[in-house]
Amino acid sequence: MKVTVWNENIHEKEMSAVTEIYPGGLHGYIAGFLKSDDVEVRTATLDDPECGLTQDVLEDTDVLIWWGHAGHEKVPDEVVERVHKAILSGMGLVVLHSGHHSKIFRKMLGTTCNLKWRDGARERIWTIKPNHPIAAGIPETFALDPEEMYGEPFDIAEPQEVIFMGWFDGGEVFRSGCTWVRGNGRIFYFQPGHETNRSFQNPYVQQIIKNAVKWACPVRKNIELTCPHVKPVE
Ligand code: ZN
Repeated sequence: MKVTVWNENIHEKEMSAVTEIYPGGLHGYIAGFLKSDDVEVRTATLDDPECGLTQDVLEDTDVLIWWGHAGHEKVPDEVVERVHKAILSGMGLVVLHSGHHSKIFRKMLGTTCNLKWRDGARERIWTIKPNHPIAAGIPETFALDPEEMYGEPFDIAEPQEVIFMGWFDGGEVFRSGCTWVRGNGRIFYFQPGHETNRSFQNPYVQQIIKNAVKWACPVRKNIELTCPHVKPVE
């Protein structure tokens, strides 16, 4: 399985707290815990030509992981277009935390993906679909303290499945782990992962991301997107 971890890599250059918690940046850290005998991982950032997401890279990627926050608008539309097509053709997409406002996530869902937020909260994640492959090995509930509060209403297209619910110490609730299918591609969104918190160090968070990569990995990818009305079948 081939995974590409994309991170805008902006906060890493501005706040030493981020690289103190996540050496190598969020992309490097996530790549580090995903790597195994079965999972080949590369990273890509805004600093790379074409954001590191060339056609060759996408064709060689089973699952793309996306972390972004301050640089959503810096991702060129032609790159978003290319990623969009790759997902419809079978590539999996795992969007983390503030990636909810990325161009690619909003394009896939067709909604604003707006939500409520507040920093410095205590979160309790509840596994509400314990038999889902993304919930494998995850307990009924676990706490993340601190984590940024993301609250409903979350303006997303109706998820296919809600696997995790987040509850916060202000009483807010959030659909923290959701799935969609678009074309031939599987999409998972997971809410924890603010850059100055330690959530990606949490073993359950790591397990959920590993499970999500496995779940989103296509049986077939690079499926040609044709329309019989344009190109008749011989
Ligand atoms: Zn955040």
